[in-house]
Amino acid sequence: MINLYGLEMSKLSALMEAEGQKPFRATQLYSWIYEKKARDFEEMTDISKSFREVLKQKYCLVLPSIHTKQISNDGTIKLLLNLEDGCQVECVLMRYNYGCAACVSSQVGCNMGCTFCSSGILGKKRNLSAAEMVGQIFVLNQLLKEENKGQRVTHVTIMGTGEPFDNYEPVLDFIKIVNHPKGLAIGARHITVSTCGITEGIYRYADEHLQTNLAISLHAPNNELRNKLMRINRAYPLEKVMEAVRYYEKETNRRVTYEYLLLENINDTKEHARQLIELIKGTMGYVNLIPYNETNKFAEFHRSSGNRVHAFLDYLMKGGVTATIRKEFGSDIDAACGQLKAKVEEEANT
Ligand code: SAH
Repeated sequence: MINLYGLEMSKLSALMEAEGQKPFRATQLYSWIYEKKARDFEEMTDISKSFREVLKQKYCLVLPSIHTKQISNDGTIKLLLNLEDGCQVECVLMRYNYGCAACVSSQVGCNMGCTFCSSGILGKKRNLSAAEMVGQIFVLNQLLKEENKGQRVTHVTIMGTGEPFDNYEPVLDFIKIVNHPKGLAIGARHITVSTCGITEGIYRYADEHLQTNLAISLHAPNNELRNKLMRINRAYPLEKVMEAVRYYEKETNRRVTYEYLLLENINDTKEHARQLIELIKGTMGYVNLIPYNETNKFAEFHRSSGNRVHAFLDYLMKGGVTATIRKEFGSDIDAACGQLKAKVEEEANT
């Protein structure tokens, strides 16, 4: 069975054509799924009964179900979702004044092994399908609809559990579905992919010439420190990552966001800021400083104090680098990467 939620328009069109259907059939199906939110082929009354039977035999409309829902005081929603095979993934909805941003997972677990991140503890179980990524947004949109405030997901970041460029094709299909005017109809500039720096992925993504945003998780300004914090740096050292970023900028004329997690006394000194300025000099990118979400899993890592964060920010700005501090959401729930899942698994084991 093919889950219809995972088919980007050109793939759906090709399948419909192979079924001997007219070209408009794919658009018609998109309209039933994304506009009218049909959950069953029987609702699709302008499609002939006989073709609905064909659809029912070969296709399905499966969404994840909610295992755990946490809502924080600031309205942030964090979900742990059940997938068909019993695997679970997290997604988060954050409310900004400009809209609602969904933070979507791209894999079950993660193989990148960053030493500060809960998502990597158990390694990667499997990749998510495009349908399972679309499903995360659908479920969040359903909850928003129930709230009756006229809100829906307007921004998508692929910054949940997993490394998107370790699951390239499904992630790209997902982006196309999110962006398609008859799909989730979210503008390219409202879509952000975040990578730990898999350079093949950055080159390939540059060649797609999309107008989406790309974020690079740097977290350290030199290879020695980055090797310690992010194992992936041994395969893709900083100079290779920066080379790929320059290519991306040249091809797309878009600036990247450098994500920099501030860990007290580890990567947050003036010297680190100076090296960071050197590293990204000559690129258009800007730095997003991320306050660390502490977890009891990694006792050696603490979030930098407010003073240190501001000193780091000042130093960057004086050095001519544009930088911002990431706004925090859901600090009263387990909102950081992999934390809700880790907690549920821990409770199940005690
Ligand atoms: N694999 C991708 C996307 C998922 S992680 C990537 O590395 O970019 C999304 C971001 O959250 C990354 O920058 C990651 O380093 C960061 N992160 C991981 N654990 C965190 C924590 N406890 N607090 C704050 N940010 C964290």
